[in-house]
Amino acid sequence: EQFWDPVAGFGVTFRTMFRKVVTEQYPFEKMPTAPRFHGRHQLNRWPDGLEKCIGCELCAWACPADAIYVEGDANSDAPDGERFSPGERYGRVYQINYLRCILCGLCIEACPTRALTMTNEYELADNNRADLIYEKSDLLAPLLPGMEQPPHAMLLGDDAETYYRGEFAAPAPGAGSAAPSGDEV
Ligand code: SF4
Ligand code: SF4
Repeated sequence: EQFWDPVAGFGVTFRTMFRKVVTEQYPFEKMPTAPRFHGRHQLNRWPDGLEKCIGCELCAWACPADAIYVEGDANSDAPDGERFSPGERYGRVYQINYLRCILCGLCIEACPTRALTMTNEYELADNNRADLIYEKSDLLAPLLPGMEQPPHAMLLGDDAETYYRGEFAAPAPGAGSAAPSGDEV
């Protein structure tokens, strides 16, 4: 029996050499996440670059970990005034503390404007605590072609009906209820 033990051991080694490697070469090769993975948050914009966040704080109230801090402020009420969001108010201060966040997604469910969504980005480690409190500038979606950096006037239309292109405007009689278009970037 002692003679066969090493032979059996090398047999395991030999068989394993031809098996598919299961080791992931992270961080050089990253496995794709599930499409609905809950990663870092993003504050979305409208197609003219204005922010979807209206500073309502519902996300902060919904958060079970007390990880979100929002300070809202009023936009200019002049029709062509400089503004950050098309609403009356916008989020002047917006912070998410990733030392506290458990990535549960309750905040994005609470958001009434789909301003807040979650990305597939999961590399949230850092070497100091302060940098894990993400500011609004860290969370805002990048400006895409055709977008302008706020503050600026509403470029998609002066009133809610033209600006939102039906996303939040009342449906026409008999049109039924339109599903949100989900055009966040
Ligand atoms: Fe709070 Fe959950 Fe949102 Fe994180 S994902 S900020 S824990 S509600
Ligand atoms: Fe309100 Fe959404 Fe902005 Fe949070 S992200 S303050 S829920 S609009």
